[in-house]
Amino acid sequence: MEVRFRFKGEVRILDTLIAGLKDVCATFPDKRKADGVYSMSDIGMSAFSLFFMQSDSFLSYQRSLAEGRKTSNCQTLFGITKIPSDNHIRSMLDPVHPSLLQPVFDQVVATLCAHEAMSAFQRLGGRTLIALDGTEYFCSQKIGCPHCQTRKRSNGKVESYHAMLAATVVAPGHARVIPLMPEFIVKPDGAEKQDCERNAAKRWLAAHAQRMAPLNPIYLGDDLFACQPIAEAIISGGADFLMTAKPDSHKALYDFMSGAEMNELIVRRKEGYKTITARYRWFIATPLRDGKDALTVNWIGVTFSNEKGKITYDNAFVTSLPVTRTTVAEIATCARARWKVENESFNVLKNNGYALEHNFGHGKQNLAMTFAAMNMLAFAFHTICDCLEKLWIKAREAKHARKRLFEHIRTITVYHVFPTWDALMQTIIDAKPPPNIDTQIGL
Ligand SMILES: [Zn+2]
Repeated sequence: MEVRFRFKGEVRILDTLIAGLKDVCATFPDKRKADGVYSMSDIGMSAFSLFFMQSDSFLSYQRSLAEGRKTSNCQTLFGITKIPSDNHIRSMLDPVHPSLLQPVFDQVVATLCAHEAMSAFQRLGGRTLIALDGTEYFCSQKIGCPHCQTRKRSNGKVESYHAMLAATVVAPGHARVIPLMPEFIVKPDGAEKQDCERNAAKRWLAAHAQRMAPLNPIYLGDDLFACQPIAEAIISGGADFLMTAKPDSHKALYDFMSGAEMNELIVRRKEGYKTITARYRWFIATPLRDGKDALTVNWIGVTFSNEKGKITYDNAFVTSLPVTRTTVAEIATCARARWKVENESFNVLKNNGYALEHNFGHGKQNLAMTFAAMNMLAFAFHTICDCLEKLWIKAREAKHARKRLFEHIRTITVYHVFPTWDALMQTIIDAKPPPNIDTQIGL
């Protein structure tokens, strides 16, 4: 008996997101001349399901379930009619450029806005902090593709690698982050010169600054991005920047301020038994670089020290935001939220279930990039579930951590076909399957 893809129960936001992704996968270019056995939507959704379920063996377990029961969780949870082989998925998705997933990344932000979850990420009076940061997600001395960047190791061997410029919504005090569409750092076709993070940031801003404008963004970045072309690109898009600026790489800026009197604010606060002394210094209007056309920026220096006077944190930032005695501390807190990209995003993506650096398949055209984008999209869907899906949140709380939740999802979907996401979540919450689970899927 055929089991149709159903949108039932409470987990509606996730169902809507999955249905949106399914529609987008159906638009992927199909290199086959004639109609294939598997639709592009089944092929795309099958790949995505691996990342969403955080299990590279999910499809093989579901194929076994489908043999005995004529249905599987691929069908009931992801709307997949037929599960293609791993090789077929790789071959068919290689021509698919990751930018085709953009409408689904847009849907993620739109969903958070529509459910008023975006305001929890906003700071400084309705501003959204978007951190731009590069990360590597593939490295090999054996596998490569024409888009791989290359470098020579000290043993003389040439290594191929892939990196991306990630854009992530972060907020101090918020436990979650929202990954946006990344910009891939790739060797352009036929080019001799390698691509770099700065160029990728410029491309990201050119492609996305307008799209992000309604969120009223402030872009965060490390010292590498605190340069005139990127600052200008941000300002011309109507946004602001807040970037780390070190003395070694910003000589003109620090020379200009040398010997000048600084504004200063000292704040003491209790953190448990400890007293932290925060010292904020700021300077209004200093040139970002040498030359007459240099952009004028505001500078903030922050140090934290303990009771013994020992400095525990010392950093400095440049910004296009107006800095005053009342705003300097909050601006500095926002600038420091950039660490969340390392901790809450890259670390989670690489070491906490998403296996971003695992080689799911490399391809010759786009596969490595498209898989990485799908992995980030899975992370974005999970963030929405963590913020908005009541049963998902309850299931996560029942298992005390996101990692444990996925262990349970992986295990029980090997043995049971769940008619809906809420049946799956309820099973995890109750620690037993619903009594009529098999009749619900028509067995
Ligand atoms: Zn490659």
